Amino acid sequence: FDDRDGVIWLDGAFVPWRDARLHVLSHGLHYGGGVFEGVRVYGGRAFKPVEHFERLHASARELGFRVPFDVTELDAAMRETVRRQDIVDGYVRPVAWRGSEQLSVSGAGTSVHVAIAAWEWPHVFSGDARSRGIRLRTSRWRRPAPDTAPVRAKAASLYNICTLARDEAEAAGYDDALLLDFRGHLAEATGANLFLVIDGALHTPTPDTFLDGITRQTVLSLAADLGIAVHERHIGPEELDRADELFLTGTAYEVQPVRAVDARSYEVGSVTTALSKAYTDLTRAVTAP
Ligand code: PMP
Repeated sequence: FDDRDGVIWLDGAFVPWRDARLHVLSHGLHYGGGVFEGVRVYGGRAFKPVEHFERLHASARELGFRVPFDVTELDAAMRETVRRQDIVDGYVRPVAWRGSEQLSVSGAGTSVHVAIAAWEWPHVFSGDARSRGIRLRTSRWRRPAPDTAPVRAKAASLYNICTLARDEAEAAGYDDALLLDFRGHLAEATGANLFLVIDGALHTPTPDTFLDGITRQTVLSLAADLGIAVHERHIGPEELDRADELFLTGTAYEVQPVRAVDARSYEVGSVTTALSKAYTDLTRAVTAP
């Protein structure tokens, strides 16, 4: 990914894509002192940029450091990155990490660096998987308790769990993994939140061991607009047997139907279709000139 033309915004200035490097003794690399965001661009404009940069700041606070650019500065830097990269339908990756002033596990005395990269990326899944649904495999890896890890932060270190789960799922021929939490409740996928449709109503796990996604919150409000009942609660994996529809939500995944979890299979039903359409309309409306 590093061998490309273009520019990346790094600590307040644009550098050539290939030169956007950090020192090998960075705290962010050794101890996971880093947080990041994923923002989607539709028609050249970012969707909910303020929410994403506020979350970047909140994630850093959870890890005990401060991002040295405010939300307005980050938003302006992102707009300029998107403009210079000429992105129409794409993805933006802001990232902040502790630097290399010292190599103690303590974060004290480390500077904080920030980068923003953007590239053209219309969809995360290809045609058939995107429209007919992806296949999930239940992972042996679980989301940790909130007193074990900063579970609400979009912290780089927590993505080890996602990489382990995702690699095992893909090696077994699935598209993604479904993670339970430390109690054995349904949690989320490796980069998206989970929704079940049971008897026409939405059921989604309480976000107490994972990110309360911006897309998740958007879909909850679209469901309210459409008069779809919503139940946010702890959900056991056995309830997958009585769900009629299943989908995931995320900045990159958008509203992504799921067609299988292990041996269970699902159809793309009317609730998923309605919410997917509402989400598409909303994201396009926001970017209308
Ligand atoms: N969970 C994880 C682990 C994620 O990486 C993401 C993507 N940021 C989400 C959930 C969904 O969050 P959002 O809707 O804010 O993209």
